[in-house]
Amino acid sequence: MAEINLTDLSCLREIMARFGISTKKKYGQNFLINKAVPLRIALEGCDEEDGVLEIGPGMGTLTRALCERAKKVVCLEIDETLIPVLDYTLGDFDNVTVILKDVLKTDLAQLCEEHFAQCEHVRVCANLPYYITTPVLMYLLESGVRFSSVTVMVQKEVADRITAKAGSSEYGAITAAVAYYGKAEKLFTVSPGSFLPAPKVESAVMRITMHEENPYADCNRKLLFDMVKAAFEQRRKTLSNTLRPLLSKEEREQLSSILLELGFPADVRGEKLDISHFAQIARRIEEGRTK
Ligand code: SAM
Repeated sequence: MAEINLTDLSCLREIMARFGISTKKKYGQNFLINKAVPLRIALEGCDEEDGVLEIGPGMGTLTRALCERAKKVVCLEIDETLIPVLDYTLGDFDNVTVILKDVLKTDLAQLCEEHFAQCEHVRVCANLPYYITTPVLMYLLESGVRFSSVTVMVQKEVADRITAKAGSSEYGAITAAVAYYGKAEKLFTVSPGSFLPAPKVESAVMRITMHEENPYADCNRKLLFDMVKAAFEQRRKTLSNTLRPLLSKEEREQLSSILLELGFPADVRGEKLDISHFAQIARRIEEGRTK
């Protein structure tokens, strides 16, 4: 087999032409052509004994780097025209399985049980299709699978939002929702020229390291997420006002004393609170309900 170097533009173009591939906007296809990026995602995203789930292998550029580093790689790809390409570009690895499937229609718990039973950790590494970044992230986090980490390329703006500090302008419901599951950090930024075709925006790779024990496991999850959603739907209003529709009359009357007892000003706005603060308030409301 001729040497496959998918970050070499002439090699990538030759393989695309041979298999009749052109990039599809509707699937968010921007293929990596900067050699350093897949290597760095693999290095920071997984280890030797890990099982890795990749979403959207595309031509197989990141997949090859993951196969070289991890024990086992399973990829989910929605575009059937890429399957014969992946057969070819990943043909020299015996630790990879490619599945033709939409990630959002995949039972991830079952998939991981089937493929990663022998792996020390199960992690996600991906250059995500930007048109469904948030649904995919939430789908992964809410899947019930104990992923140890999720390392993904997203639009830089999304990475800034997810890793924002409470009180900053980028901070929002998605920041708090992700923080419920783990600690998010931005690892490095990637310029548009690192992709074919070049996207209009800057990108960034971020890693979410899941909590080993969820510190909010004792909270009423629905109440907590409803509170976060309500607080950010009307972020200029005080928390007391945004929470009103979620609470009984009695709870509404108690809310300001709960806030004061917990050390928050009565007119605090949700955008100033991180997930641990929301959780403190949710616990107190829930205590009242179960008395
Ligand atoms: N990993 C490749 C790379 O880095 O060069 C390709 C990344 S490209 C940004 C996103 C990939 O996700 C494409 O291959 C696209 O076909 C695939 N994709 C889009 N929507 C998907 C979905 N719902 N489920 C699985 N794969 C999807």
